[in-house]
Amino acid sequence: MTDNGDATPLVQMEGVNKHYGALHVLKDINLTVSRGEVLVVIGPSGGGKSTLCRTINRLETIDGGTIVFDGRELPAEGKALAALRSEVGMVFQSFNLFAHKTIRENVTLGPTRVRKIAKDQADKRAMELLERVGIASQADKYPAQLSGGQQQRVAIARALAMDPKMILFDEPTSALDPEMVQEVLDVMIGLARDGMTMVVVTHEMGFARRAANRVVFMADGQIVEESTPDEFFTNPSTDRAKDFLSKIL
Ligand code: ADP
Ligand code: MG
Repeated sequence: MTDNGDATPLVQMEGVNKHYGALHVLKDINLTVSRGEVLVVIGPSGGGKSTLCRTINRLETIDGGTIVFDGRELPAEGKALAALRSEVGMVFQSFNLFAHKTIRENVTLGPTRVRKIAKDQADKRAMELLERVGIASQADKYPAQLSGGQQQRVAIARALAMDPKMILFDEPTSALDPEMVQEVLDVMIGLARDGMTMVVVTHEMGFARRAANRVVFMADGQIVEESTPDEFFTNPSTDRAKDFLSKIL
């Protein structure tokens, strides 16, 4: 989908630092995300995972280092920043759908307002995407009429509607009832297979094993380990990761 044969990484973070006041939340982060790669980020709460994601689409500024996205340093403001935001989709734990808009409108809003795509064309694409996430029959309902799993699948369709170069998922299944987790993970696994570049913060080890190319273990603002899912889950190299895994597995 996004793999156009370009060998340069889609995201290159070098020496990235971020503070909230006295709190040092990102400490010298060096990380690249290749095109078409699925990177899973795991680690204890408060370790900086959400902040890391939010720096990639510049929802958070950084106070040291550089982030290069698709060959260009992240823009600070203006039209270039708006363009960047539309190229990096984001799916949150809390769905964040517009409550007073229908499912279809939630998906067409970005394309018509930001991308200036004609309404009938945006509608057609929205229905294709809703079909893809298995929600087409719900298109004219409102978010509150859908289950959490369905709402999260709409959020994924909404992200896809902007034709992003990558999608950041920040604990997309953490707020869901257990029986709805898999339907969302299945959609994500489909995207991964189609070649979407994805950074996924999750504790879903089944997903990491099946879909991740790489696992990054983050704690206290640092990347503590970076390895293949197989290595990480069977033979983590640090005590920190061993301890974390013993608590969640
Ligand atoms: P994670 O997603 O791994 O749980 P976060 O990136 O959310 O971690 O948070 C990292 C640290 O930064 C935590 O100590 C958190 O309390 C703090 N933090 C996050 N956002 C803010 C903010 N807007 N202002 C101040 N501190 C924050
Ligand atoms: Mg978080």
